Amino acid sequence: MDKRHFLKNLGLGASAALIAPSLLTSCDSASTDSFKFWIWINGNNKKTLDEWKTELTSLREAGITGLLVGGGRNMLEKLIPIATELGQEVHAWLWTLNRPGDKKAQAHPDWYTVSRKGESSLEVNPYVGYYQWLCPSKPEVQEFVKQGMVDHCDIEGLAGIHLDYVRYCDVILPNGLWAKYDLVQDHEMPEFDFCYCDTCRGSFKAQHGYDPKDQEDPSQDEKWRKYRWDSVTQLVNQISEAVHAEGKLLSAAVFPYPELARKLVRQSWNEWNLDMVFPMIYHNFYEEEVEWIEYATAQGVNTLNGRFPLNTGIYLPPTQPHEIAKAIEAAKAGGAKGMSFFSNGSLKDEKLAAFQQLGMGK
Ligand SMILES: [Zn+2]
Repeated sequence: MDKRHFLKNLGLGASAALIAPSLLTSCDSASTDSFKFWIWINGNNKKTLDEWKTELTSLREAGITGLLVGGGRNMLEKLIPIATELGQEVHAWLWTLNRPGDKKAQAHPDWYTVSRKGESSLEVNPYVGYYQWLCPSKPEVQEFVKQGMVDHCDIEGLAGIHLDYVRYCDVILPNGLWAKYDLVQDHEMPEFDFCYCDTCRGSFKAQHGYDPKDQEDPSQDEKWRKYRWDSVTQLVNQISEAVHAEGKLLSAAVFPYPELARKLVRQSWNEWNLDMVFPMIYHNFYEEEVEWIEYATAQGVNTLNGRFPLNTGIYLPPTQPHEIAKAIEAAKAGGAKGMSFFSNGSLKDEKLAAFQQLGMGK
């Protein structure tokens, strides 16, 4: 609720704002009026317009008014008119630095990150076949990535750009995934530690006087760690400037909270110039309970210190219908301004019914 509107409703004049700051603060934090529900929507060109209309309508009835839509321009142009009619806001969900099978990028093999082991992620994909990461330190990559985001900004009715995979390859996986990959990642392993390309090593050496690769254990080098956080931050801030110049909002899907994000994927996201952030607080990936959502949300909110709003991201597949209300309460208690759910394919049947029972769509 707008603060002036709130004062007017209470019958207070503008001067009352000077004597009632605590009243305003408590109203803002306790208010649920502006709490917004979002969902990540996977692109699927096989679905007809009528099928999308039915799906978006049921999401709207479940209270979801923000859509992060993948699948590129075609999907966006198809969904935006339907969503607009339903009063839903649409952002383009785009992959940033992980670019599997990107033909334009592949024409430049030197754009890809190189591990401490000396392998390019173009040729040796860490963990999974779809991991092919570009190096954020290279001016050519920055230009390419930025232009790709700007190219989406002329889509009629689009509200903003939503960055995903805006980070380094996971140097350490969430602990809930270690068994799946048969790994115990209690330290940074050379084959998952990026980026040791000539650009990164060269510009680090120009700044600090030594090559990080010559260190006995580069993972212990704080300056080298910070160099890579800053490399992603400056890329995001370049994108931010370009997207804002086009009159669009910028947001990002990030790891649960800044301290953990820096450690796992070199994302210092509290320093980015975003309009809002969507930390993926996927408690099941970290072998945590639903209660952890409040802790992780609060970590992010406190670190941001009001710089921009935070929307808690929830991974739906293993979340039971009865846990949904609990997850929403946890995010609100942690200070989130909204929530997003991954993804539309999982929000059906009993889970959709659980949303509808909460009456958020009314
Ligand atoms: Zn590099």
